[in-house]
Amino acid sequence: MASYRFASRPSQGEAIAFEQGALKVPANPVIPFVEGDGTGPDIWRASVRVFDAAVEKAYGGERKVSWMKVFAGEESHAKHGEWLPDETLEAFKEFRVSIKGPLSTPVGGGIRSLNVMLRQVLDLYACIRPVRYFEGVGNPMKEPEKLNVVIFRENTEDVYAGIEWKAGSPEANELIEFIHRKFGKDIRANSAIGIKPMSEFGSRRLVNMAARYALENNRKSLTLVHKGNIMKFTEGAFRDWGYDEAAKAFPGQTVTEAEFSKGGAGARADCLIVKDRIADAMFQQLLLRPDEYDVIATPNLNGDYISDAAAAQVGGLGIAPGGNVGDGLAVFEATHGTAPKYANLDKINPGSVILSGVMMFEYMGWKEAGKLIVTGLENAIKSKRVTYDLARQMSGSTEVSTSAFGDQIIKGMRA
Ligand code: NAP
Repeated sequence: MASYRFASRPSQGEAIAFEQGALKVPANPVIPFVEGDGTGPDIWRASVRVFDAAVEKAYGGERKVSWMKVFAGEESHAKHGEWLPDETLEAFKEFRVSIKGPLSTPVGGGIRSLNVMLRQVLDLYACIRPVRYFEGVGNPMKEPEKLNVVIFRENTEDVYAGIEWKAGSPEANELIEFIHRKFGKDIRANSAIGIKPMSEFGSRRLVNMAARYALENNRKSLTLVHKGNIMKFTEGAFRDWGYDEAAKAFPGQTVTEAEFSKGGAGARADCLIVKDRIADAMFQQLLLRPDEYDVIATPNLNGDYISDAAAAQVGGLGIAPGGNVGDGLAVFEATHGTAPKYANLDKINPGSVILSGVMMFEYMGWKEAGKLIVTGLENAIKSKRVTYDLARQMSGSTEVSTSAFGDQIIKGMRA
């Protein structure tokens, strides 16, 4: 058991275990949380009340979460002089399922992204982002309900691996010279250099997780989104490994789109259809033919862009949840950032952290609690008493604060 200098282990509760490939969740699990920077504390205060109310209502006191506050980001730096204390990583490992608010990252210098670091250090190799429409939420689309996708974004490789050097640095200059001398390829002088690693291992395990999810949840298709027409040996290989993994790991349960359209022997209607799209075309496809897509697996950078764009199609970042998931280890978090201009105003939408909590409960097998929260949110939106971001897109609505929207969700669970 790890010892904690800054955080306190709750007096009650046990750690979630991982045995023979499955989570073992006690009735009173300890779940670490990071409030986050900027609007994080406002959002967390509302979210935790919703989580506790849902668990209480679903299990009548037989199950309960013991929340454990752990430190990262600005609060951690101000109080303890460390941006990401080792003990926070230890808590994420010890208790296996955690939830966090957004953490700020300076652009162009200073500390590296704590979020990216967390994903890499804990090997949370899939960033899972479900995107669906909630009836009544204003949005720019004619038929927003047609979009219902779950995006699996590779989380540890690609240009996000953090292997990059400043223009003019000795490392960048040495690499430019080496590439010229060894391979005869010219890179313009004074260029910054970033490396884009994409491995067979990393690509296969991501596609495997996405295909497994699609099969377990009766989803119809898995789309591999890549830019392999240009980056043949990285993104192109992601596509090829992806097709191969789906076929080899799930024989008889998957079929390629090409095979399916030929109507051959493998073209059974109950098979998961595996297809691929080039990333730029995929952005158009999600706008024009959203109902043709279901589960999406894609490398890191494509996934980052596509999940924000898809969230905008159904009403914005305020209700866009996410989870960073590895093997028996997960940290759930909203898709949005710290939205610092709204910090401490009790104004921002807590919906994305609340829906990240739904993903967390589903991951733990506490599906009833997750379902109650979704019902609560649906009813809160129907009541038209919503936070500013939804209010500005919904005619006849009343703008309410972060905390009042949390109350409205709790009320909605009873409806
Ligand atoms: P952002 O914090 O996501 O905010 C951009 C805009 O999105 C906000 O101004 C607001 O739009 C809208 N928005 C975000 N969260 C919302 C919510 N809960 N409810 C309603 N609207 C919401 O993006 P950013 O300003 O680019 O980034 C700020 C900081 O967050 C940066 O330091 C960045 O690195 C960090 N960040 C962290 C994470 C993470 O921790 N996982 C992710 C992304 C960014 P309006 O202005 O239209 O109201």
